[in-house]
Amino acid sequence: MNDAKILLSGVKPTGRPHIGNYFGAMKQFVDLQNDYECFFMIADYHALNFVQNGKEMKGLILDLALDYLAIGIDPVKSTIFQQSAISEHTELSWIFEAITTVPYLERAHAFKDAESRGKEVSVGTFNYPMLMAADILLYDPDVVPVGQDQKQHIEITRDTAEKFNRIFGETFKLPEALILESVKTVPGTDGQKMSKSHKNTIGLFASDEEIADAVMKIPTDSKGVEDPKDPETDNVFALHKLFTEGPEFGELRDKYEAGGIGYKESKEILIKNIVKFVTPIRERRASLEKDIPSVIEILRKGAKKAKERASEKMADVRMKVGVTLDK
Ligand code: AMP
Repeated sequence: MNDAKILLSGVKPTGRPHIGNYFGAMKQFVDLQNDYECFFMIADYHALNFVQNGKEMKGLILDLALDYLAIGIDPVKSTIFQQSAISEHTELSWIFEAITTVPYLERAHAFKDAESRGKEVSVGTFNYPMLMAADILLYDPDVVPVGQDQKQHIEITRDTAEKFNRIFGETFKLPEALILESVKTVPGTDGQKMSKSHKNTIGLFASDEEIADAVMKIPTDSKGVEDPKDPETDNVFALHKLFTEGPEFGELRDKYEAGGIGYKESKEILIKNIVKFVTPIRERRASLEKDIPSVIEILRKGAKKAKERASEKMADVRMKVGVTLDK
């Protein structure tokens, strides 16, 4: 395992994960865990920009740990850990902030979006790409699987690594974003990017009723059953691409193109297939929930492993910037 390439990624514990998080990023975590040495972070200090209630934060952290395990991340093969457990993340973030200019960070989408909503932006939101660069670069990963919305942050991470290397000497490996073209932006029930902030999500652990409710609300055009429909512009069909498989998918596409299926029937098939997909992971999660002490133990062991790597890297960084006096 020592020569295996390294993969690192994370999710913010800000609420229930949706199928955009799953197909855009989390599914890759599971699919790739045999090919890489994997680090999966619970990005709780990133979540602090959104969740400012201790009790709620604690619950959300445990929820995400359960989600990671329920989708199939194996804690024996992979390291699952809390960002906040490794103080090197915030320490390295500070060093990156010292070598980064304000105009450079003003170009970040997340900041521009927050600013355009007319709200006062927190320093944490502004500095978020620096903490993310630290999260990643401490572990020298080769790849970082993410959805398209994180592409710019990976570019900032690479720029920051290059800048540090230029100033202080070769220290950080430049990671590659791993973005799957077909699921880089999973659409929500309104056709826009699925996102908690757009309120257009279908929860990965939603109940049958919640799934049916969300799907039935998907807006469609006014074409009747017999009218030919363009599968490429229909919001329902966009989700069939994720959940409807085999001959059923081909038949559905043919019926869309030739006419012979209404949106109601298409939605019913979609509901059936989403429910079929989420039922086993929902059940796995329910059984994991019965033993929270074991989940906390998995996070404790994960933090120990992550700390070993992060502290070794940080010792090198401290030496390079010149604050270590005894070497
Ligand atoms: P976050 O909740 O921001 O921590 O997101 C976790 C991961 O899900 C990140 O890699 C995002 O890029 C990815 N993601 C979030 N929404 C979508 C979406 N609608 N389509 C594809 N990937 C997404």
